[in-house]
Amino acid sequence: MQTPLIDLRQIRKAYGGGDSPVVEVLRGIDLAIHAGEFVAIVGASGSGKSTLMNILGCLDRPTSGDYLFAGENVAGLGSDELAWLRREAFGFVFQGYHLIPSGSAQENVEMPAIYAGTPADERHARAAALLERLGLGSRTGNRPHQLSGGQQQRVSIARALMNGGHIILADEPTGALDSHSGAEVMSLLDELASQGHVVILITHDREVARRANRVIEIRDGLIISDTAAHPSAPPRTARPDALQAVDLRQRLSAGSETNGAWKGELLDAVQAAWRVMWINRFRTALTLLGIVIGVASVVVMLAVGEGSKRQVMAQMGAFGSNIIYLSGAAPNPRTPPGIITLDDVAALADLPQVQRIMPVNGSTAGVRFGNADHTAYVGGNDTNFPSIFNWPVVHGSYFSQADEDSAAAVAVIGHKVREKLFNDRVDPIGQYILIENVPFQVLGVLAEKGSSSGDSDSDNRIAVPYSAASVRLFGSRNPEYVVIAAKDARKVKEAEQAIEHTMLREHKGKRDFELTNNAAMIQAEARTQGTLSLMLGSIAAISLLVGGIGVMNIMLMTVRERTREIGIRMATGARQRDILRQFLTEAVMLSVVGGIAGIGLALLVGGVLLLGNVAVAFQLIAVLGAFGCALVTGVIFGFMPARKAARLDPVTALTSE
Ligand code: ADP
Ligand code: MG
Repeated sequence: MQTPLIDLRQIRKAYGGGDSPVVEVLRGIDLAIHAGEFVAIVGASGSGKSTLMNILGCLDRPTSGDYLFAGENVAGLGSDELAWLRREAFGFVFQGYHLIPSGSAQENVEMPAIYAGTPADERHARAAALLERLGLGSRTGNRPHQLSGGQQQRVSIARALMNGGHIILADEPTGALDSHSGAEVMSLLDELASQGHVVILITHDREVARRANRVIEIRDGLIISDTAAHPSAPPRTARPDALQAVDLRQRLSAGSETNGAWKGELLDAVQAAWRVMWINRFRTALTLLGIVIGVASVVVMLAVGEGSKRQVMAQMGAFGSNIIYLSGAAPNPRTPPGIITLDDVAALADLPQVQRIMPVNGSTAGVRFGNADHTAYVGGNDTNFPSIFNWPVVHGSYFSQADEDSAAAVAVIGHKVREKLFNDRVDPIGQYILIENVPFQVLGVLAEKGSSSGDSDSDNRIAVPYSAASVRLFGSRNPEYVVIAAKDARKVKEAEQAIEHTMLREHKGKRDFELTNNAAMIQAEARTQGTLSLMLGSIAAISLLVGGIGVMNIMLMTVRERTREIGIRMATGARQRDILRQFLTEAVMLSVVGGIAGIGLALLVGGVLLLGNVAVAFQLIAVLGAFGCALVTGVIFGFMPARKAARLDPVTALTSE
């Protein structure tokens, strides 16, 4: 006697327990089925047929008793091995077809082969051939709702045969069909049985049962008869590749390493994910807003931060970070501001920390050329001006020490002054302009500072010799302020201290002056910007968190809506990790779409800001970082729902509404 393919010994199944009463549905089933058999199981509704079928197909475990498959006790198999058995040994045909609604006929049929790791071309060809053979060659692209009941059932039979379908488990396959389609499906099963497939058919129709060569009747969870329906029927021979001869353990270990399967599964998961997102696109878009805004705000924030940093750097470079300004200030509100004198300047010039020192005696003043009137800052300063401010003359020349010594009425004008007075039509060099009605001859034009510093006011300036400003314009020899270049840009602080020390000594301890420097201003600016970045950063982080919760929300809804689909996938042989991977893929896809949309939005906002003259500098690293954050959010928040899906019980999932 051969080992039976299926051997049930005293199988019992009880539901309930806890608060609900225990219901014994199967109460000790002994059943052996050999290769090549065509078995019909009949019984009244509620007698336990489906429960038995689920146990036979390894979708469910018995409460007690032993199930030996090809001699191997199924109770000892893990969930992956059971998935392998469902995939390789069984093919399910359900009363309600159980096709995945979002997939085409072809995709539904291919599904078991994806989990088995069959290469794509082989898979496509076999699915197409099966559908052709079952008369659905022209319907491969149709989705289940575009097919009649009979056609859907034939698709599900094709799916059952996809991986071989050694044992076809059909639970009332004709129950939902009209008599014609039912007869078609029955003759298909008959044909399969005669080709050597083991067919186990559940029916409450004795007429249908007559086709089988063995009829088992159950009532109230017990087998009450087990007979050959028509002993005259020709004995069926097992298929040459029947599982009986197979060493299950060996097949299990071979089957567990489905090489290259992940590629097919990943592609399938991505396609499925995309379909689901597309079907629910409005809901998806709304829920993704969090991620979109999060990514966009991270990218824009960093771009604006970088933009203004570069602007500040440009200003720093424009005037030099080693520059210190010294001016008079009131020690308290009731006293007049102190006066810096040229003696102070002379004392400071001797400090070792000071590289250059330049007093400026200046004020805003009215200037005129021909009919053009304008107001500009007029500063009397020495010949250090171009070098101390790093501000060259682009046209003409700067005044000389001789001009300084003779208090010559000569001027070097800024870019903006040239624009206002000369309007580009007249070459200013050699022309006489009136400063406070005193004629000055223009010697040169300064380079445009505003283009690098972003501050065009600095170009509204006229430089004249210090002596000329004192004598001809302002009547005072004292500087309005003093510009000091420190020797070492990194030691501006020390230079400042030395200057302060000297000044206190010169002014007899009176603090009637003040010192400012570019570096300090830049630092203050950087601090403000740091606070701003932190604030924007937290907004972005909160958005990403909200986005992540959105992803989790979508995924939880998806898992609930598609519980049946998960059950179907498990019945066709998906392992827990396949389900986990699929739903994680969906979560990641969601985040990828959210991330891309966020980057798009960021570029859009950046463009608008640029038009509004805000300095914006996009950085690849920021864009990639934000995108990466979105991905990580998706994975973290998608994991819980995905695991929930993967841990569903196959039968519960399959029978859910
Ligand atoms: P059949 O397929 O023969 O119509 P089933 O195997 O589906 O019968 O069900 C047999 C009995 O088990 C029914 O009385 C049903 O109410 C009960 N049953 C099935 N599934 C469950 C369950 N998950 N929890 C409790 N009772 C169940
Ligand atoms: Mg049933």
